Amino acid sequence: MGKNYDFIIVGQGITGSVLSWRLIEKNFNFLVINNSNKKSSSKSALGLYNPITGKNFVETWNSNEIINETENFYTSIEKKLNEKFLYKKNIYRPFSSKKDSNNWELKMESKTYKKYIQKLDYKSKYNFLKDNLGGVITNKSGYLDVKKFLLLTRKYLKSRKIYVEKNIKSTNIKSTKDYIEIIKKKTKYLVLCRGFYENESSFFSWLPFNLVKGENINISMPHEINEIIQKSILIIPNKNKNIYSVGSTYNWKILNDKVSETGINKLKNKIEKILNCNYKIIKKQSGIRPATKDRRPFIGFHPSNKKIGIINGLGSKGISLAPYCTKILIDNIQNNKNINREINIKRYISLY
Ligand SMILES: Cc1cc2nc3c(=O)[nH]c(=O)nc-3n(C[C@H](O)[C@H](O)[C@H](O)COP(=O)(O)OP(=O)(O)OC[C@H]3O[C@@H](n4cnc5c(N)ncnc54)[C@H](O)[C@@H]3O)c2cc1C
Repeated sequence: MGKNYDFIIVGQGITGSVLSWRLIEKNFNFLVINNSNKKSSSKSALGLYNPITGKNFVETWNSNEIINETENFYTSIEKKLNEKFLYKKNIYRPFSSKKDSNNWELKMESKTYKKYIQKLDYKSKYNFLKDNLGGVITNKSGYLDVKKFLLLTRKYLKSRKIYVEKNIKSTNIKSTKDYIEIIKKKTKYLVLCRGFYENESSFFSWLPFNLVKGENINISMPHEINEIIQKSILIIPNKNKNIYSVGSTYNWKILNDKVSETGINKLKNKIEKILNCNYKIIKKQSGIRPATKDRRPFIGFHPSNKKIGIINGLGSKGISLAPYCTKILIDNIQNNKNINREINIKRYISLY
């Protein structure tokens, strides 16, 4: 029998990666097992974090704590690795109508939203945008270069010999009274961070996932934008000049991992409504978001095996929810701190 671990994590998407750094921070002895040949949601994510979301621009759940945790967490890993992958950027949201600008004026007077609004302006900001009514600039947002973060994390784990490339089936996981055994390694806790694949596993498929396919593209255009642009779609400046990530689509019905013509056309139509200039599509990608029916994450332990944990269901907010959710799980194990019912899988115990 191989080495004994405190934790084995299965999956090295954003969730498994962030959990790894949390365990390093706490000096735990752990191993990450991942099948990097599988398509993952994280690989196709735009990387945005943002406290005001949705069609009606509402403050997201627990946003104060979650956004602070997001920025603190990724900045601390940047410092540790002496690398850059978190870009704090304001969002410029061009008004779509007079009613829209009136709504933002009202938000400007509310205590909840005031702190996020930097400026309302009633004239066009960029001549290559269809923003003749002006727009609002909000803050406390930005994006993570997800691919870079995942690659650097894997490189670090490999350098410490705590990364194994393998596909884990449920039959690979054996449980005894005192430990979990997986590919001949023993661990006190196994944490499954397998994203949307968990929907088909024998451990947690009873949880009400609500998977959503998404597509996005990279475009090039000969203009510079300082902010992230949001008007029905997102246009996120890349670290490479004149390259932008644009997305994303939402499809609950067709859950394959192929880029579809329909999805790309939807993005093109939305781009037409905001861009006043030529652009070129240079990359297309797709992924499946591990979303949940009640739009809250899944954190906790298997009802019949307290050594098998899960962090999943981060939906379209994996970048900001991963630092928060991983902290909650470790606090629960280490300090016996309660996992809030809203995100605890216990809320669905009747489905098990
Ligand atoms: C088009 C699109 C755009 C998005 N944009 C954003 C955004 O801007 N901001 C944001 O916050 N979120 C965004 N998301 C959502 C975000 O990508 C997800 O919330 C997040 O990636 C989920 O991460 P995860 O680690 O839980 O799952 P995944 O990223 O899917 O990772 C799961 C990992 O587990 C591994 N794995 C699975 N099964 C096994 C197995 N049996 N054995 C071994 N390894 C296994 C996989 O290979 C993978 O590495 C977007 C999603 C999509 C599809």
